[in-house]
Amino acid sequence: MDEYIKRLSEGSLKLYALEKELPPAEAVKVRRRFIERVSGVSLDRVGAFSIDIDRVARKNCENMIGTVQVPLGVAGPLRVNGEYAFGEFFLPLATTEGALVASVNRGCSAITRAGGAEARILRDGMTRAPVFAARSVPHAREVADWVATHRDEIGRAAESTTSHGKFIDAVTTVVGTSVFVRLEFDTKDAMGMNMVTIGSEKAAELISSATGAPLVALSGNLCTDKKPAAVNLVRGRGRSVCAGVWLDDALISSVFKTDARTMAEVNRRKNLVGSAAAGSLGFNAQAANVVAAMFIACGQDPAHVTEGSMAITTVDEGAGGLYVAVTLPDLPVGTVGGGTGVGTQAECLSLLGVAGGGDPPGAHARKLAEIVAAGVLAGELSLLGALAAQHLARAHKSLGR
Ligand code: NAP
Repeated sequence: MDEYIKRLSEGSLKLYALEKELPPAEAVKVRRRFIERVSGVSLDRVGAFSIDIDRVARKNCENMIGTVQVPLGVAGPLRVNGEYAFGEFFLPLATTEGALVASVNRGCSAITRAGGAEARILRDGMTRAPVFAARSVPHAREVADWVATHRDEIGRAAESTTSHGKFIDAVTTVVGTSVFVRLEFDTKDAMGMNMVTIGSEKAAELISSATGAPLVALSGNLCTDKKPAAVNLVRGRGRSVCAGVWLDDALISSVFKTDARTMAEVNRRKNLVGSAAAGSLGFNAQAANVVAAMFIACGQDPAHVTEGSMAITTVDEGAGGLYVAVTLPDLPVGTVGGGTGVGTQAECLSLLGVAGGGDPPGAHARKLAEIVAAGVLAGELSLLGALAAQHLARAHKSLGR
């Protein structure tokens, strides 16, 4: 240990190169000790963890020194009547926001008592949009025309890099001399950003050599990855998924201590009018809360919460109750790859019955998307109910502080 710390201090050994000389577990320990020495800060808790780091240090995190732990709660059981998710589930929620799990739990109880959340995948496609530089406006149109007439060739080039990914479409957007080609793929059980980036590189090489328009950036931001964007809200990205439930008046009164008309008015004035007045891309109460807590628990990329937060909550008043639905056009989820193989996260996926690849491929990721959408619905119902009954501040005072 001392020898390595001495070399790190002298600069003859780089911090990132420790794994070249030591097994991952040892490298992480030495690195942590070195950081403790130079900073004077104890990292004992960061160094106490249960996950197997051999794979994590190789695939998920460079310069690893340990882990941070996030409390994990469960909400449920939540009945989901989806095409892929069918049954009752306990939702793993990793959060430090007091009152969140209790809030989602109340929504789960209402949904389950009502017979379950109906969930459907509306569309499924992960995107990457390289940007090309045309010489002129006519040349930009020529590039767009070439893409439109060579979709099969583009698809074959992209699919040559993956045994699971399937090319869906290429949609162009021209802005002056910039040509964006939004390439979309069915990524089966993978969230798919690595998969589609690798496939898009092959497709971009073909487009560039055939049209003479140089590739400027493999990601031209029309993808749009990890940023809130209207293009994702309108066209969809990742899994586009919807969940809804009919709640009758008696249930609304007994669970939420309010009535249908008041809940509908809160939704209209808050989630629709308020969000429109704010210029928000999310027309919901707390979709990001459930998406973030489930993403962290289940090894999803937390930066994609930005996209998952763009949900629309709708309330249809009917005779004797309400039909409440959430629509998430942009939910990037996967059950293989990325952080899904980290031990604790894999256990959370197993709790939902979706760890690893599904049969047929894609079934697990779609099931996860349906469950997350149903969880978001639970969160929406609970918060709408709390606001309608004027209980929000009370719940946070008693549970969150
Ligand atoms: P990945 O970790 O690269 O692994 C996905 C691979 O698993 C697929 O490409 C596929 O290999 C294989 N696979 C095995 N069984 C499968 C099944 N049933 N369905 C689908 N694929 C299966 O994961 P990824 O989902 O492509 O990318 C996720 C990672 O990308 C995350 O770590 C995320 O943080 C990161 N990320 C990357 C970018 C970027 O620009 N590259 C951007 C955002 C996030 P084959 O393709 O060979 O079939």
